[in-house]
Amino acid sequence: MPTSFPARADLTVICGPMFAGKTSELIRRYEAAALANLRVRAFKPQRDIRYDPSAVVTHAGKSIAATAVESPSRILLDGLGAELVLIDEAHFFGSPLLEPVLGLINAGHSVVVAGLERDHRGEPFDPFPRLLCEADTVVKLTCPCARCGAAAVHSQRLIESSERIVVGGAESYEPRCRSCFVPGK
Ligand SMILES: [Zn+2]
Repeated sequence: MPTSFPARADLTVICGPMFAGKTSELIRRYEAAALANLRVRAFKPQRDIRYDPSAVVTHAGKSIAATAVESPSRILLDGLGAELVLIDEAHFFGSPLLEPVLGLINAGHSVVVAGLERDHRGEPFDPFPRLLCEADTVVKLTCPCARCGAAAVHSQRLIESSERIVVGGAESYEPRCRSCFVPGK
């Protein structure tokens, strides 16, 4: 995929199931922007501290510096100093992420948002319905279904929970295609 340097005021959404490489794609864009001497900031939700509280880290261990924020409003405040703003695990923020993302774009910034567009039931995961509507560019990533190897579009939860958000890695989720996916309750 070609690296596109940020134009002013644009939104890119990177989505797809767990293990599809969303964070790797975010890190690739961070590194490309840093090489081009752009001011770039990365943010992630405070609750996602699976690997490192001050970094965005892939499942394979690659990382960039990131600010863990409790409230999405902090992203608008801190992001105004950057030309490119990257946000990982956007589904953890829910609808409150829309205001800072749209605020940054309206202020002329380039924003890249990555996360799960579907929840464990296969239903749209806020804030993605609106983000996908606002996006200038959508990158939908996939990876092989853990059961059959077809293209995965869902994140199958492997543990019992009715909570919409359960932070976890390979012990808790696996990518599944439409046929192999069993919607969570
Ligand atoms: Zn399958």
